[in-house]
Amino acid sequence: MAQAFRLFRIFEIDIKIHVSFFLLPLFFGFFYSAHYGWAVGLRAACLVFLVFACILAHELAHSLKAKKLGIAVPEITLYLIGGVASMQSIPREPWKEFWISVVGPLFNFVLALVLFFPLYWTIGKENLFSPGLASWPQMLANVFWINPILAVFNLIPAFPMDGGRILRSLLAVRMNYLKATQISAFLGRLFAILFLFMGIWMRHWMLILIALFIYFSASGEERRVWYEESHRRVSP
Ligand SMILES: [Zn+2]
Repeated sequence: MAQAFRLFRIFEIDIKIHVSFFLLPLFFGFFYSAHYGWAVGLRAACLVFLVFACILAHELAHSLKAKKLGIAVPEITLYLIGGVASMQSIPREPWKEFWISVVGPLFNFVLALVLFFPLYWTIGKENLFSPGLASWPQMLANVFWINPILAVFNLIPAFPMDGGRILRSLLAVRMNYLKATQISAFLGRLFAILFLFMGIWMRHWMLILIALFIYFSASGEERRVWYEESHRRVSP
């Protein structure tokens, strides 16, 4: 990939960062600096990196589980919208897809539990329960809260979120893979339309963007599986 460069390598997986990623710390850094002063801007930019460290940990959880199940994961790339672990293939065995998908959100819940007491002792209860950007301890409190948020967001049953894959894997136990994908993609589009209306209602541009992203990802996944299936039928 031309616009992504390698940060480091861990567990034989290349961790890459896409140039679009840098828009985020720059945007939040400048936005908060302009409105609340440079110190808040600096904390906002730092928070973006910490959030992405949690996203990277989440993707690593998926990747290590996939590798354990025999699927090669050459790289993880961090984009503006989040992380993507490129797996050599998407497993068709429902239990494999289930476990690979479920460990990501599960890891964020575990990370939140692990972070709770160290943060409680270092930054104090007061700061931990009032995350923000007004001080460094409050900024660190976000690192705890972002994990359950990431987990719950990823459990929404819509592609490309883990919840969509978990749903498909559960359906695929009882029906064929294409049908399971179609139902999951349909539900994903319903969620996308719901988010779109919520985004327009709340004038929340990020939610509108997420809605569009989910809508097209659901269709993309359905097309991919449909193509694979039709190709399977014609090929000997
Ligand atoms: Zn995930």
